[in-house]
Amino acid sequence: MGKVIIFSAPSGSGKTTIVRELLKRFPQFEFSVSATSRAPRGCERHGCDYHFMTHEEFMRAVAENRFVEWEEVYQGTCYGTLRSEVERIWAKGNIIVFDVDVIGGINLKRIFGDDACSIFVMPPSIGELRRRLVCRGTDAPEVIDRRVAKAEYELGFAPKFDTVIVNDDLETAKAEALKVITQFLNR
Ligand code: ADP
Ligand code: 5GP
Repeated sequence: MGKVIIFSAPSGSGKTTIVRELLKRFPQFEFSVSATSRAPRGCERHGCDYHFMTHEEFMRAVAENRFVEWEEVYQGTCYGTLRSEVERIWAKGNIIVFDVDVIGGINLKRIFGDDACSIFVMPPSIGELRRRLVCRGTDAPEVIDRRVAKAEYELGFAPKFDTVIVNDDLETAKAEALKVITQFLNR
């Protein structure tokens, strides 16, 4: 079993921004491309950002036990970590980087134990989280409302992670992530 790094956060906290930076800096880090039943948004590409599936395809994969973990993160929209992704990345000797919702993050930490470093990216406030989602410009107003409403609930799970990083100033948050991960890998 190889090592894994888990990033979780309420949507809009900035975890994808931080993860992208880490993937650029560490060639041995590889992003676990999740499956989802939602439609691609913006310039997202199949097999690169997500494995996009219909709801029926997703449920068939569940029935075939093809997921390490999966969640209906938002009503009617499912996301999951494919076993094939984990096997593919470890077969190359790489370290897996997960970007999953908070419940998925807790489940993955339970599965991978000491081989996992779980990081919760905390927004400075709910107001700022909403502002970032609006500025990102990828979600309809009702989708933003749903994500913000869920964020309050998700923040309560932060203590279950190995580390909490507050993403107020982006450069400070990236430096903190770098420090925590370097310590984990050198342990
Ligand atoms: P998540 O992956 O957690 O949903 P993103 O990485 O997509 O969040 O970030 C949401 C939006 O907030 C993006 O438009 C991103 O550029 C912006 N953002 C990320 N971090 C910061 C920060 N520290 N300050 C201001 N804006 C940020
Ligand atoms: P988005 O629609 O913004 O890409 O993602 C919505 C949420 O689903 C985010 O919190 C993201 O981290 C989470 N997510 C993405 N992939 C997975 C996965 O494989 N499993 C789980 N549990 N959550 C995921």
